[in-house]
Amino acid sequence: ASTWANVPQGPPVCITEAFKADSFDKKINLGVGAYRDDKGKPYVLPSVRTAEEKVIASRLNKEYAGITGVPEFTKAAAVLAYGKDSSALGRLAITQSISGTGALRIGGAFLARHFPGAKTVYIPNPSWANHAAVFKDSGLTVEKYAYYNKDTIGLDFEGMLADINKAPNGSIFLFHACAHNPTGVDPTPEQWKQIEKAVKAKGHFSFFDMAYQGFASGDIHKDAFAVRHFVAEGHNICLAQSFAKNMGLYGERIGAFSLVCADAAEAKRVDSQVKILVRPMYSNPPIHGARIAAEILNTPELYEQWLLEVKGMADRIITMRAALKEGLEKLGSKHDWSHITSQIGMFAYTGLTPEQMDQLAKEFSVYATKDGRISVAGITSDNVGRLAESIFKVKG
Ligand code: PMP
Repeated sequence: ASTWANVPQGPPVCITEAFKADSFDKKINLGVGAYRDDKGKPYVLPSVRTAEEKVIASRLNKEYAGITGVPEFTKAAAVLAYGKDSSALGRLAITQSISGTGALRIGGAFLARHFPGAKTVYIPNPSWANHAAVFKDSGLTVEKYAYYNKDTIGLDFEGMLADINKAPNGSIFLFHACAHNPTGVDPTPEQWKQIEKAVKAKGHFSFFDMAYQGFASGDIHKDAFAVRHFVAEGHNICLAQSFAKNMGLYGERIGAFSLVCADAAEAKRVDSQVKILVRPMYSNPPIHGARIAAEILNTPELYEQWLLEVKGMADRIITMRAALKEGLEKLGSKHDWSHITSQIGMFAYTGLTPEQMDQLAKEFSVYATKDGRISVAGITSDNVGRLAESIFKVKG
């Protein structure tokens, strides 16, 4: 028999098969996890084009980066996340990573090896589908905390606090810094302050996943509120950053993982262990995306331009949310659709059932995930009307 005769068929990891097979020319793909412009096309930010041209024109060599990546990139990434005056900057261990996923994976592996307490990470219910897999494969046990209330299509704040209080002291908690995926439901700043207090009272360790800084509200500072608040309140957090969404650098795989340490000496020791972890995984990260991101973050005019472009993407998404809600109301829907506009980021949780999602796909060629999550980035001025009608016909 073949060596792999007993390898079972795994479930499909991708949801775009059915969309591709549909021949209807007005089909709508709301399953994509990437930004689309108002014509439904992939978008390369003009600031990224300019930065890339500058990088190419400077004819740099292709030598390896160090294990923790391109320093001009990681330094600037830290400032972007923590803020330029943050006390964290002088006591940070940071490494470039294979986008946000790689950052989470390095973080998971670091905690599995060095976290002094229980090797269990609590993630929200629900969470980005890959979180549980990344952390399990990193060697951590995964538990869930209450997050989403399906009756209000909003935050289950009481349940979340109760679960923070219920977990053993000194547990690891993963938080989505902003634009929670898949629900689009974020705590308010006031709620974050209460969450911080609960986390501190329990001596929990906080792991932030910030995959959408700037992309949620359009303001990089606002979106970093939770991260910066926790640090200001004395939490030595760790953080996964991604530049996939906010710079549209998806396929360049550019991100960073950082740990806030007690002081510079501790950061140095932690850094040495991050290197020991990364080296056998991939030796060192790719340089091209890091150079592009560094060029943007370190060139004042490009940086200002980029801030406007991030805001442009966030604003288009916010506009499409409003248009969808308005469309449903104009059709006479009696449901409360306010969650569509109160949610934030790329995704909206519609509250539609798996059966209704199936019907959307089969009868209306509108494709998204069965949990009722739609990617607002897939909505355009052209298709929002048909989308509202389709949802109205399915749900009323
Ligand atoms: N975390 C969350 C919550 C995400 O939604 C994503 C992207 N879908 C990621 C991390 C990581 O994505 P990437 O590896 O492309 O940066």
